[in-house]
Amino acid sequence: MGKSIKRIISLVLVICLVFSIGATGVNAQAETVQQALQTLEKDVPIIEIQGFGDPIYRGISTETEDDDIDIWTANIDAILGLVKKHLFNLIFSLIFKNTDKLNVILTDVMVTLFGAIACDEGGNPAPDTGMQDKSTAYPKPEYGQRNSYRFHYDWRLDAHTLSTQLREYVEAVMQATGSDKVAFVSFSMGGSILMTYLYEYYYLATPEEREHVHSAVFMCGAMNGVACCEDPFAGKLLLESDTLLYALGELMSGNETLSGLHKVLVVLDKIRLFDPLINYVNNYIVKNFNALAGDGLIQSMGTLPGFFVMMSYDGYYDAENFIFDTPEEKQKYAELIAKNRYYHENVQLNSDNIINVLLEDGKNMAVISEYGYSMIPVTSDSSRMSDGTITTAASSFGASCAPLGSTFNENYVQAKECTCGKNHISPDRMIDASTCKYADITWFAKNLRHDSSDRYFADLIDLVTYSDEQVTVWTYEEYPQFMVSFENEYLVPLK
Ligand SMILES: [Zn+2]
Repeated sequence: MGKSIKRIISLVLVICLVFSIGATGVNAQAETVQQALQTLEKDVPIIEIQGFGDPIYRGISTETEDDDIDIWTANIDAILGLVKKHLFNLIFSLIFKNTDKLNVILTDVMVTLFGAIACDEGGNPAPDTGMQDKSTAYPKPEYGQRNSYRFHYDWRLDAHTLSTQLREYVEAVMQATGSDKVAFVSFSMGGSILMTYLYEYYYLATPEEREHVHSAVFMCGAMNGVACCEDPFAGKLLLESDTLLYALGELMSGNETLSGLHKVLVVLDKIRLFDPLINYVNNYIVKNFNALAGDGLIQSMGTLPGFFVMMSYDGYYDAENFIFDTPEEKQKYAELIAKNRYYHENVQLNSDNIINVLLEDGKNMAVISEYGYSMIPVTSDSSRMSDGTITTAASSFGASCAPLGSTFNENYVQAKECTCGKNHISPDRMIDASTCKYADITWFAKNLRHDSSDRYFADLIDLVTYSDEQVTVWTYEEYPQFMVSFENEYLVPLK
C-alpha cells in the first residue's frame, strides 16, 4: 500500500473518530430546557393561590360593583387627617413618655386606617364587606403557569374557610375544563392556604380522592411563618441602627443623591449619633408596646384570622398570649382563637406528614425561595436573610443562611450529607441548602424581593408540573439550585 493511500485512510479514520466523539457528546448531553418545554404535555389546569392583599370592599351585597368602597387600600386623606389631628400631641407625648395619651393616639390611628377591615370577636368580617368575586372558571385552549386559574380570596378569613372556598373553586375549574386533576401553585400566604387544602382534601382523604391533586409548588411560602407578621403581633421588636441602615441602603441604592445621603447616615451612625433615638425606641416604645399598641391591635389587625396563619407555631402562641393577654379576653375571643389554633395544631404540625404523603404518591413538587434582602426592620432580628418579607430559612423549609451581608467562612462545610451526594452550598457561600427538608427540589433566586413573576418562574413551574419524572435541581443546567436575577427580567444560574 502506498504512503498516500495510508495517509488517506488515516485521515478518514481520524475524521470518523472526531465525528463519532462529537455525536456521542451530543447524545450524552442533557436535554435542554427549550427542548423539554416543547415536548411537555400541559394537560392539567394550574390553580394559582397568590399572597394576601386583594382589595376588600364595603357594599358588596348590592348588584352593582361601582358603588363598592375600597376599605383596604391606604387612603391618603385619612393619613393626612391623622397627621393634622395628632402630630402635635404625638410629639409632646413621645417627649414626656405619656403612655396613656400615646395609647389613645395609636389606637385612633390603627382604628382609622384598619378598623373598617376588622373582624368581630369570632374572627368574622363585618356584613357587607368582602371581595368582589373574580375567581373565574372557563375552558382555555392551553394550560400552564401563564394560563393559570387564579383563586381570589378574602384574606381576612381563617384557613379552614379559605380551604373550603378553594375546594369549591377546584370543583368549578374541573367542571369547566373537564379535567379530573388540578395542579397547584402557591405564593406567600397562598402557601398556608394550599397546605390547609392539602391537609383537608389530600392527607385526610381516601386514595381515590387524592387522585385530583396533580402537583404542588410553594413559592416564597408563608406556611412556616412570616417573622415580620408574628413578631410585631407578639411585641417582639428590636430596633438596631445597623440593620435599619442596611434596609435603608437597599431602598436608597440606584439613586445617586439618596445613596450619598445613605453614606452620610452610615458615618453619623459610626459616631453613635443615633444611639439616643435607638435607645429611646427600644427602652420605651418596645418595652411598653402592649400598653401603647395593644388596644389598637385588638380593634384592627388582631382580629383577622388571616394574619394568624402567617405565623410559625411558636410565634403564633407568643402572639396569642400577647394580644389576648387576660382570661377575659381569651374567653371573649374564644371563637377566633379556636380558628387560629385549628391551623397551627392540625395543618402546621402535620405539614411534614402532608408533604411526605404527596412525595410518596409520586406527585411532583417544588419549593422556590428568594434571598438577598434584609427583613423589614420591625422584628426581633432583622439581620436574617430574607426576600424582604419572609426569611429564606422559613420559605425554603430550613436552609442555613450566612448572616446578612456576609458569607460562610472558608472552613464551613455542608451541614448535612444529602442522599444525592452533591454540593448544596451556593456559589456565593451565603446559603447551605443541605438543611432544607426537600433539598433536591428547592430552588433559590437571589436578588428577588418577594416576587412571583411569571417571567422568572413560569418555565420552571411548567417543567416541574408537567414532567413525567420529578424535576430536581440537578435535572437542567439552566435551572440549578441557585439562580440570580440581574434586573433584566430573567433568571440565570448563579456562578
Ligand atoms: Zn441533595
